[in-house]
Amino acid sequence: ASRRRPVQTLRVKMVLLGSSGVGKSSLALRFGKDQFRSTSPTVGCAYLTRMVHLSDVSLRFEIWDTAGQETYHSVTPLYYRGAHTALLVYDISRRETFVRAQLWLKELEKQYIPGSTVIWLIGNKGDLSEDRQVTEQEGRILADERNLFFTETSALSGDQVTELLLMIAHRVNEHMG
Ligand code: GDP
Ligand code: MG
Repeated sequence: ASRRRPVQTLRVKMVLLGSSGVGKSSLALRFGKDQFRSTSPTVGCAYLTRMVHLSDVSLRFEIWDTAGQETYHSVTPLYYRGAHTALLVYDISRRETFVRAQLWLKELEKQYIPGSTVIWLIGNKGDLSEDRQVTEQEGRILADERNLFFTETSALSGDQVTELLLMIAHRVNEHMG
């Protein structure tokens, strides 16, 4: 007979990085409340939370949105401190945000983020397929080169957002366990 162990709850700090306008706040709102607002939803409080339940553990995500710290020069170490996962977001309809993401990665690797942080590259605004400037393949190649995970999302439609959170939960749990 199997006896169920009490389910443990892990606290997971998630930070969102990337150029202004790529949809970081919108993704935070999707993760935290499953909502979308067409006006820029700067998150008023310090962070939003979301519970994710895996078979043997529950994760309480604390989702931190940048408060205007949108160049890597202006991001303070305090923002990253203790982060279990970092989401590096670009906009598939604006190539310069993809280029900027690559510069950002170099900086991250140099100084900010410890090796144990699960870094996820995210091509957001997947719904804007008519205006696409970065192919899915390009995103995947960059992620493979840098040993990152990769997903295309749409904060607007919610496409892949729940799936992404689950994948992140599994990876983070592996890293913490
Ligand atoms: P941030 O500056 O990175 O926090 O970006 P915001 O979340 O403020 O989003 C910038 C703009 O892009 C806003 O007008 C959003 O409504 C819009 N936006 C965010 N995510 C998406 C998306 O997935 N698809 C589309 N079409 N627009 C989005
Ligand atoms: Mg924002």
